[in-house]
Amino acid sequence: MSNTPREAALRAMPGETLDPQDWDEIRAQGHRMLDDMIDYIATIRERPVWRPIPDVVRAQFRQDLPREPTHLDEVYRTFTDFIAPYTTGNVHPGFMGWVHGGGTVVGMLAELLAGGLNCNLGGRDQAGIEVERQIVRWAAELFGFPPEASGVLVTGSSAANLYGVLVARRRALGEGVRERGVAGARLVAYASAAAHGCIPRAMDVAGLGRDNLRLVAVDDRYRIDVSALAALIRRDRAEGAHPFLVVGTAGSVDTGAIDDLDALAELCRAERLSFHVDGAFGALGVLAPDLKPRLQGLERADSLALDFHKWGQVQYDAGLVLVRDEALHRATFAAPAAYLGRGARGLAANSPWPVDYGLELSRGFRALKVWMTLRAYGTERLGRSIARTCALARLLEAQVRRTPELELLAPAELNIVCFRHRGPDPDRLNAEIVADLQESGIAVPSTTRLGGALAIRAAIVNHRTSERDLDAMLEAVLARGRARLEGNR
Ligand SMILES: *Cc1c(COP(=O)(O)O)cnc(C)c1O
Repeated sequence: MSNTPREAALRAMPGETLDPQDWDEIRAQGHRMLDDMIDYIATIRERPVWRPIPDVVRAQFRQDLPREPTHLDEVYRTFTDFIAPYTTGNVHPGFMGWVHGGGTVVGMLAELLAGGLNCNLGGRDQAGIEVERQIVRWAAELFGFPPEASGVLVTGSSAANLYGVLVARRRALGEGVRERGVAGARLVAYASAAAHGCIPRAMDVAGLGRDNLRLVAVDDRYRIDVSALAALIRRDRAEGAHPFLVVGTAGSVDTGAIDDLDALAELCRAERLSFHVDGAFGALGVLAPDLKPRLQGLERADSLALDFHKWGQVQYDAGLVLVRDEALHRATFAAPAAYLGRGARGLAANSPWPVDYGLELSRGFRALKVWMTLRAYGTERLGRSIARTCALARLLEAQVRRTPELELLAPAELNIVCFRHRGPDPDRLNAEIVADLQESGIAVPSTTRLGGALAIRAAIVNHRTSERDLDAMLEAVLARGRARLEGNR
């Protein structure tokens, strides 16, 4: 053995990359996976919406750290047998739980393409950044923001709403907040009692405290009571607090309520508060001509959080925060870093980068699936699918009203119907009915509480859901309700 440093270094270097040795084999495996997943979506109706995970399946994921390679065919078999059958079920048209989009084949293919490119969308002079900027410009146009508005794709509205709070915090406290923190400032924010739980959490994470979010009363349609809000702001000011932000809800998670956004915008202008809108699923209602007028005022928001993975049917995860004042948005997050080596030329050009508008440096190419979905379907077709989910909700609402065993618990404002089966101990009865339905695999509604009562909540978000899925869900609710009530007797 000769011992020059170069030879020693070469000996220490294993002679293989992670690329396949046989490209034809991996091509065949890849084609099979693609075919299988297209079949999976095409035949989704033939399977249960959801099924509980048997213990033997869970045990598959308690194995030792794999030190030796496993043949891809075997790895894939674990996927087909133990992963694919036991997912949430939101691809299925019978899924009506929470607010879940169904995804599309186009979105799936986009994920494959993005995986192949494997680019890092933190920044730099690459086409992916242009794709993401295109989405931000399209969003600005859709929501009536100025063309110079900024935005960044994030996981979802939990993150996007946090960003909205951080931008408003930066506006209220100036540059100093980034050096010294909130330092005793008593910033107070306002949202309706129907606001999503990620709003108080955003206050917590932003260092402002959940107690400094006032949950304002709602009217009989679950919309924020604007005069109660105005009174609270006055009272807080009188007590020496510093009101800084109102969060309007465009599509509440319980019932789909839309706050009077115009009135909130007006109040925020008069009181000089930031106005952020949580439009997680509802904001894309602007794509449906019937819904657009109800979102009037959205265009006056200082910032907007929304999800493409809900009504937009883009594959998880794909949220967006849009900010009217680009300079403020950048001033909230941008931080100099020498190792980014930014310049006017070369790959490190093309600032500002997404990293200047958020917390993440390394980021995947989420933008591709959003861009491909918008292009492949077009906003009109996506808008028709949104309108259809609302029409289905109205049908379901009418059926609930017609059925003596059932009781409607809230008006179906958008695409969400909250109702319950009548009977003694209704909270328990309805919770059991929902669990029965989920375990039966026939349909997956979820539950919520409205005015203290437990409701069966059917949110129609999936573009595949049709009348027959609603019928199957209702029939199952009635059958389980009857069985449970008879069982009790
Ligand atoms: C879904 C939802 C959120 C949270 O969004 P994620 O994408 O799940 O993080 C926030 N607000 C509302 C109204 C929602 O429907």
